[in-house]
Amino acid sequence: MVAQVLFTLANQLSETAYQNVQQARFIYERQQVEKMLIEMKDKAEAANKSKSEFLANMSHEIRTPLNGVLGMLHLLKETSPTSEQRHLLDAAMTSAKRLTRLLSDILDLSKVEAGKLQLVDSRFSISSLRDSILDLFQFPARENHNELDFPLPQELPETLVGDETRLRQILFNLVGNAVKFTQSGRVSIEVDALARRPDSRVQILFTVRDTGIGITDEQLQLIFEPFVQADGSHTRRFQGAGLGLPIVRKLVQLMDGELAIDNTEGSGTTAYLSLPFGIAHEDIADIPKLDMRNQPDGRKFRVLIAEDDQVSMLYGKKTLQRLGHEVSTASNGKEALQRLAEKDFDLVLMDIQMPVMNGMEAAAAIRTSEEIGSNARIPIIAMTAYAMTGDKESFLSAGMNGYIAKPMEASELQAALAKVMSASN
Ligand code: ADP
Repeated sequence: MVAQVLFTLANQLSETAYQNVQQARFIYERQQVEKMLIEMKDKAEAANKSKSEFLANMSHEIRTPLNGVLGMLHLLKETSPTSEQRHLLDAAMTSAKRLTRLLSDILDLSKVEAGKLQLVDSRFSISSLRDSILDLFQFPARENHNELDFPLPQELPETLVGDETRLRQILFNLVGNAVKFTQSGRVSIEVDALARRPDSRVQILFTVRDTGIGITDEQLQLIFEPFVQADGSHTRRFQGAGLGLPIVRKLVQLMDGELAIDNTEGSGTTAYLSLPFGIAHEDIADIPKLDMRNQPDGRKFRVLIAEDDQVSMLYGKKTLQRLGHEVSTASNGKEALQRLAEKDFDLVLMDIQMPVMNGMEAAAAIRTSEEIGSNARIPIIAMTAYAMTGDKESFLSAGMNGYIAKPMEASELQAALAKVMSASN
């Protein structure tokens, strides 16, 4: 009897021990799998990050010579070409500009993916945003025989606080697509202020509605993936690289907003974009804006250009000389400081990436230098192929007064000059 009890007990014990061993093995295996998954995730993230960094570097490296090509084409156009040559030049410029836009998109997408894109909030006027959209899309809308409509309701706050550049980028994409995929129809943009949020921001709803070719349900599943276009045939009817919407989606996520696309059959496409913004209470009249109508009054300036790329330098110099300004050059920041010590200037155009001393270091050195006298307070405009938000703020905090993205159009250069010079007087 006792032997039997002992035997049963021993059996039970060994069963529990067996179960414990089984459980321990299960936990161990699970931990191993978890460890493996974490390692795989880290590796995938690292690979994605290096891909994004590679793309960002490549697009920057390609941009510089491309700016050179665009600049030379601009200059060539000023040399009284025949009408046939002008036509060819226009075609070359259109292609170069398209490539520049594509590079900006790749740079943006890779920056967002690498988690490097930071939002920059500022106060902005909703009616200027509307004007810039109408300005930009009036011509392409007319070309496609579309009506373009963007009414602003009275009750909307005129001044909002948020990342205006990114909002503009999102709307340019949505409105651009609406105009592109609609023929002899109508594109309308509506804005409404939705309810106040608990964090006292206001939710703004933008509705971009078109009567164009529409998107099918299947296409809708794919168009947020990079490089996907709904019209996947080899002879694509519409230009584009399929990068617009993936960037838009990532930006909207980053801005804590929502995007929905309604593709109800037979009625075109409607994009609903809702984003939170702060409300500015002060007047924004004091914020200077780059107004192309605000041309300078024919004053001539002594301009110093610091630029290491010979082609960009030639373009900047010729363009400024044509506008009647006197131009000196320096091929890096250190040389710029030497020029400023030699004579007085009215303005410096400063490239950012330069050998020996880069533009940021040079700007900081100019502001603190004792050898260059009153030139230490000279207005400095940054010129860079990095047309990224966030960078602008760092240029300004390095002591620069303005910012111009390459490739610079002569009119943009003139407007930036006028803006900086009028602010400094
Ligand atoms: P793309 O630069 O090619 O326009 P997007 O990412 O902006 O790239 O759009 C991806 C695809 O989604 C487009 O090629 C098009 O097929 C489809 N699409 C986007 N917007 C519209 C629209 N408003 N109407 C019809 N199709 C659209």
